[in-house]
Amino acid sequence: MLYKSGVEYADFCLNHVEGCAHGCRFPCYAFNMAKRFGKVKSYDEWIKPKLVENALELLDQEIPKYKDQIKFVHLCFMTDPFMYKHKEVSDMTLKIIERLNKDNIRCTVLTKGIYSKVLTNKEKYGSNNEYGITLVSLDSEFKKEFEPFSAPYEKRIQALKHLHDNGLKTWVSIEPYPTPNLIEQDLKEILNKIDFVDRIIFGKLNYNVETSHYSSNGFYEKCAQIVINFCKERGIDYHIKFGTQKQDNKKTVVLFNKKLEKQCTLLVER
Ligand code: SF4
Repeated sequence: MLYKSGVEYADFCLNHVEGCAHGCRFPCYAFNMAKRFGKVKSYDEWIKPKLVENALELLDQEIPKYKDQIKFVHLCFMTDPFMYKHKEVSDMTLKIIERLNKDNIRCTVLTKGIYSKVLTNKEKYGSNNEYGITLVSLDSEFKKEFEPFSAPYEKRIQALKHLHDNGLKTWVSIEPYPTPNLIEQDLKEILNKIDFVDRIIFGKLNYNVETSHYSSNGFYEKCAQIVINFCKERGIDYHIKFGTQKQDNKKTVVLFNKKLEKQCTLLVER
């Protein structure tokens, strides 16, 4: 259940559901991986989530093993912990957060669903968890096409605001941010809707051939700058995902060149 994540802003991670009813078509990395490794055969199978029924028992076994290494646990990268209209998933997630917090393990959570109000019960759940939503648009037509069965944007924001108003830390992942050929929209409008959060993560859309040239034409550079300025003006913490800004591409080339240079030197020495 618990594993060390390779994602740049995460530590340990946990996925207690196989599949995800939100059925995103950005495309969904988790679905592609599940298909590639033979866990599901089709989209229809993917959107019928299956709970890992013994998740809590597994956690009881694994927490003592990893406790000293864990800074925090992220839920989830390969499914959605507060899956919209799937109460059984949300109920299990609440039990998992409670279990981890009982051992003083902090959780970061990310959903395209609706947060339960019970999370404000500070006797049951730790007060230093961080609750995030993914929000890449405010347009319901876009949602219908790209994340058809996730929670409506407005409801997502309201539930997050409720947690914020009750003193909990909140964040938003604006990733994968769609390019203008998919939707013309004003990034500032989205940012203004979430100006109460503690942290914003921004990242480009990957794995979509229709949008690949936007990475080089400066579109994401401008978007990242808008996010950075917005956050700086309001004292909001931010993180721009690696590869979103051109400077990252330069860094990748420099790293590659350095590696190449080292290999050449070794060859010459031999
Ligand atoms: S919410 Fe996440 S895991 Fe679920 S379908 Fe969408 S992208 Fe995939």
